[in-house]
Amino acid sequence: AFNANVAAAQDALNAFIVVTPEKAVEAARAVDAKRAAGEALGAMAGVPIGMKDLFATFGVQTTAASHMLEGFVPQYESTVSQKLWDAGAGMLGKLNLDQFAMGSSNETSHFGNVISPWRRPDGKAQLTPGGSSGGSSAAIAARLAPAATGTDTGGSIRQPAAFTGTTGIKPTYGRCSRWGVVAFASSLDQPGSMGRDVTDCAIMLEAMAGFDPKDSTSLDLPVPAWTASLSADMKGKKVGIPREYRADGMPAEIEAVWEQGIAWLKDAGAEVVEVSLPHTKYALPTYYIIAPAEASSNLARYDGVRYGLRDLPDGAGLQDMYAATRAAGFGPEVKRRILIGTYVLSAGFYDAYYTQAQKVRTLISQDFARAFEQVDVLLTPTAPSAAFALGENVDDPLAMYLNDVFTVPASLAGLPAMSVPAGLDAQGLPLGLQIIGRPLDEQGVLNAGL
Ligand code: GLN
Repeated sequence: AFNANVAAAQDALNAFIVVTPEKAVEAARAVDAKRAAGEALGAMAGVPIGMKDLFATFGVQTTAASHMLEGFVPQYESTVSQKLWDAGAGMLGKLNLDQFAMGSSNETSHFGNVISPWRRPDGKAQLTPGGSSGGSSAAIAARLAPAATGTDTGGSIRQPAAFTGTTGIKPTYGRCSRWGVVAFASSLDQPGSMGRDVTDCAIMLEAMAGFDPKDSTSLDLPVPAWTASLSADMKGKKVGIPREYRADGMPAEIEAVWEQGIAWLKDAGAEVVEVSLPHTKYALPTYYIIAPAEASSNLARYDGVRYGLRDLPDGAGLQDMYAATRAAGFGPEVKRRILIGTYVLSAGFYDAYYTQAQKVRTLISQDFARAFEQVDVLLTPTAPSAAFALGENVDDPLAMYLNDVFTVPASLAGLPAMSVPAGLDAQGLPLGLQIIGRPLDEQGVLNAGL
């Protein structure tokens, strides 16, 4: 049924780059065989999922939605996807995304943008499903997949979830292995789960997480039984409302949903208090220095020799090949990030930008640590607006970056954070609320979201 939905919606939504219906069926058949043999079934047994096309999948094209990796077929499997297959899941296909996961709207994909299944009442404008995990969010919202993987560097799981009325969790940095995930900004990148609700996300995250010796920043800790410990009871829990997130000019509807979330948590027994995260206003500029810096370094590997595209003009030398390959292989947003990154890392500007950003990153982490001495979780809006129209922000990178204002602080601090659907705006579009937790306290985040 899901395979049929995927095929039927592909032209309208463009959520997938490659479809693999046979793999989904194979997983279902494996469940039948295991049942017949009386064998135990994994937590994801038979569940067909979408795989963000940033995860390397053995024998299946992996592009990061770039021309650079078009046609690249890995001879290895990412740790996270392998864990999902081991738990019994099957792959419906590889999901579209912003190119190299750089973007907030899916419009930087080389394979065309994803279109949200949501529309405003007049039905005219096509809306973004968010980004970069917009194929994932659109597929879940349109019921093409019950769940999907995402990756989150500065909000790429949470913002698409908010824009589509779905749920998505980014665990603590290091919980899920980055091995086999196309690198964007290594100190921030973190895989996570996306689905229809908190329980589905918990089940899937439990299957994805765990120590991996192949990722040097993987956390060597057991994976807690998050699903078994889910509880919506918030008695004795304190929820913090960060004052600095009450940005000037926040739409009244976002404010209203936030108030609604506070009321729900109070009803569930929580005590709600205001807290301060004084360095919040520096998070966005800090992120947009650190993420491009790391990206410029990570993307140096695409040289026309090792992966994917090679553009070798007649009579060209090595330097010409590098230049031609990178000019043709990277889209404009990726080039912008590489330029910003190499600039902030250059000898003359390193201290003024990169070193400074690293210091501010520490201050932002310390803000959170202080707040978490007082409260168990924080509640904020996920994004400053509902889904915007495709095309609305493409010519204005700063407006696009501003969409990440509420999600990047938790990324810089490596904290677990989730977006849950929390209501609709006046146009009937979904709005999300973000729950941020202490390091390693995915349970607290999931429970508050329940
Ligand atoms: N929108 C942010 C960016 O463009 C975050 C992307 C992400 O989390 N991968 O960098």
